Amino acid sequence: MTISLETAASTNASSVVSSHFINGEWTDAGGPTFPVHNPLNGELVGEAAAGGSAEARAAVEAAAAAFPAWANLAPGARQLLFLKAADIVERRTEELVELMAVEGGASRAFSSFQIRLSAAMLRQAAGWGYLPAGDVLRSDVPGRTATVTRKPLGVVAGFTPWNGAFYLAWRTFLLPMAFGNTTVIKPSELAPRSAGLVHAEILEEAGFPAGTFNVVTHAPGEAPAISDVFFESPAVRCINFTGSDRTARILGAQAGRALKRMVLELGGFNPVLILDDADVEESIRAVTFGAFLHQGQVCMNSRKVYVHSSLHDEFVAGLKARVETLKIGDPRDPAVIIGPLINDGAVEQIAARVQDALDRGAALVTGGTADGRLYPPTILSHVPADAICSTGADETFGPLLVIEAFDDAEEAFRASQNTPFGLSASIMTRNRARGLDLAARFDTGIIHINAPTMASEASLPVGGVKDSGWGRSGYYAIEDFTEVRLTTVSREPGRYPF
Ligand code: ADP
Repeated sequence: MTISLETAASTNASSVVSSHFINGEWTDAGGPTFPVHNPLNGELVGEAAAGGSAEARAAVEAAAAAFPAWANLAPGARQLLFLKAADIVERRTEELVELMAVEGGASRAFSSFQIRLSAAMLRQAAGWGYLPAGDVLRSDVPGRTATVTRKPLGVVAGFTPWNGAFYLAWRTFLLPMAFGNTTVIKPSELAPRSAGLVHAEILEEAGFPAGTFNVVTHAPGEAPAISDVFFESPAVRCINFTGSDRTARILGAQAGRALKRMVLELGGFNPVLILDDADVEESIRAVTFGAFLHQGQVCMNSRKVYVHSSLHDEFVAGLKARVETLKIGDPRDPAVIIGPLINDGAVEQIAARVQDALDRGAALVTGGTADGRLYPPTILSHVPADAICSTGADETFGPLLVIEAFDDAEEAFRASQNTPFGLSASIMTRNRARGLDLAARFDTGIIHINAPTMASEASLPVGGVKDSGWGRSGYYAIEDFTEVRLTTVSREPGRYPF
């Protein structure tokens, strides 16, 4: 295993802009700020504006004022803006790769993946304005026609996360905007630029109208001042949240009191079932990627593999060998696959859970020892069912994979479903019909056959069930970010009972 701690020369190109982006203007320069650090080594990456309720109110007002014109903009005009933004994203690739590395610890493999998905999503969304806007329904009343159209909601407020920061931010505000909503986002305090401010730079250059997209940043611990404004403002019609189920429960209670629609993209405990007829080499490749992309800090990472006992030893030996070739270190080195965890709390969580499993008698296949924020891909086998990392009750947000052998596929399937989460899952089998039959029974938003739990594409509806949240990405987000309007026209006098 290679652990490289040398850091590339630091650059000012990634310094955070200490300003909000409200109504098309960079505001508040000179106001209070907070530091943003490189998770690898604690180096200062830049300062971001420490906003609060006043900025949030101004941003919501700007978005509300921009809404009618944006909602009614011709599809072709909106299309040009989205296509231009996609080109800008691609032009800025190198700078974005650097930004995601220093602000979020993302490897080039992960940041390039996000950039490709973001450009693809922008180009797909660019055409949605030309899709049918509704339906004409038949009425039982003579002379009456009913039409159903999709209307944007108004202002959608979004919480963008630090982990897949660049892509997940697009997903948070671009989907609502593509259906005619305007947006205000509150990026994670851990990655304010890659989770929102850089998007403002891109949309500003592309020429998006002022107020259609607004960003308010805040210091650690100050999120409620901003989110309270989202819940209190009548103009905000939907809250689009990506984060933990713990925070979602707090916000969900607020949404209940305010009667606001919420879209939730939360965690997962994503199992992989390797059936006795699986291709072992392909399973090793899929699990290495699925479990360890971005050091296991993505909601769709694989957390537990159930492998048929006839393949167990070959699979574990092959997986260990492959995983140990992954270079660990500064993600600015293009050869590095495993960068740092986001903060000390993340390192402490995974270390404690590995220790808990070992104390209960688990076997360490590889990894298990941190070097600062660098935590190697770690695999545990023979993990007792009550070890925290194995129960499925909580996700361990890091590079930890649990492997369990099974003899009875039905028992393994049932065990894999024993979790409050329901985001993604994978089945590895050469028998596609058998895979499809089993897949139909999974209680998850996503199930892949012969692909990793992370097999995302911009066009596909990604989202969870149960405690993994609700709402879907891709064009299916039309369900989340529009409402159905019924209009009837009667051409004959009505017949009324009184
Ligand atoms: P993560 O662990 O992925 O950072 P969290 O659920 O802790 O996920 O945080 C997600 C987002 O929710 C962050 O942007 C954070 O600022 C915000 N947040 C956390 N706690 C609260 C809260 N009590 N009220 C409003 N927002 C919050």
